[in-house]
Amino acid sequence: DNILEVQDLSYVYADGTKALHQINLEIRNGKTTAVLGGNGAGKSTLFLNLNGILKPSSGRILFGGKPLEYSHGGLRELRRRVGIVFQDPDTQLFSASVYQDISFGPVNMKLPEQEVRRRVEGALARTGISHLKDKATHCLSFGQKKRVAIAGILAMEPEVLVLDEPTAGLDPMGSSEIMKLMMETQKELGISVVIATHDIDIVPLYCDRAYVLNEGKVIMGGTPTEVFSRK
Ligand code: ADP
Ligand code: ADP
Repeated sequence: DNILEVQDLSYVYADGTKALHQINLEIRNGKTTAVLGGNGAGKSTLFLNLNGILKPSSGRILFGGKPLEYSHGGLRELRRRVGIVFQDPDTQLFSASVYQDISFGPVNMKLPEQEVRRRVEGALARTGISHLKDKATHCLSFGQKKRVAIAGILAMEPEVLVLDEPTAGLDPMGSSEIMKLMMETQKELGISVVIATHDIDIVPLYCDRAYVLNEGKVIMGGTPTEVFSRK
């Protein structure tokens, strides 16, 4: 089953930049899908379309078989169900403490206090940062901030977790730790994961499927073995 289906999606920015041209791809339920491509290939534009921050210029996106709804309520729901962790954690963290930052989403969802606490503690544990919960976010390392940003999204309990360059700026140890945490989380929660990356080493290790974007077009799609053997 596909949790997300992108059908003939094109996206043109207000200044006329054609960022995506009739792309098609499928995000399998419970699997990890990689989106590869250099700078400017269209990865971020694709992700912003997946959670409704951008609306397709043409084509459509299905979530659970149904077209995305761009009403106020539909978008709220979509942003909860498709969580995006951006490349630079500083764009995503804005509360004083780690705990407050992670609780922002659940509080905003008006969940009962006890449920907020359960989710925040769960997300802290999953990302291995329980010991940092009372720290000020601004004094954390880059890798720690990255985990706080991931925890904040996990606390929303999304069905799809979109990670934009999750290993960028991390050393090899930090990269493999974060990927292992993500894979454990995925297995335990049964969520679907989408990863944009330049880091092709992580693809055969962690991804079930890979798509290659170039100049706004999908130029390849298949298992990591298929994609890399056609290079
Ligand atoms: P089925 O035969 O029921 O469609 P498979 O899992 O055998 O199920 O996969 C069939 C096709 O789906 C293959 O082409 C495979 O590459 C593709 N596929 C596998 N994983 C994913 C994924 N994460 N996203 C999209 N397509 C996938
Ligand atoms: P990637 O994430 O793969 O680096 P992007 O989706 O950011 O690629 O960019 C795809 C194309 O869209 C590039 O040509 C980029 O310059 C352009 N682009 C991105 N954001 C905007 C914007 N806000 N306005 C105009 N063009 C943009």
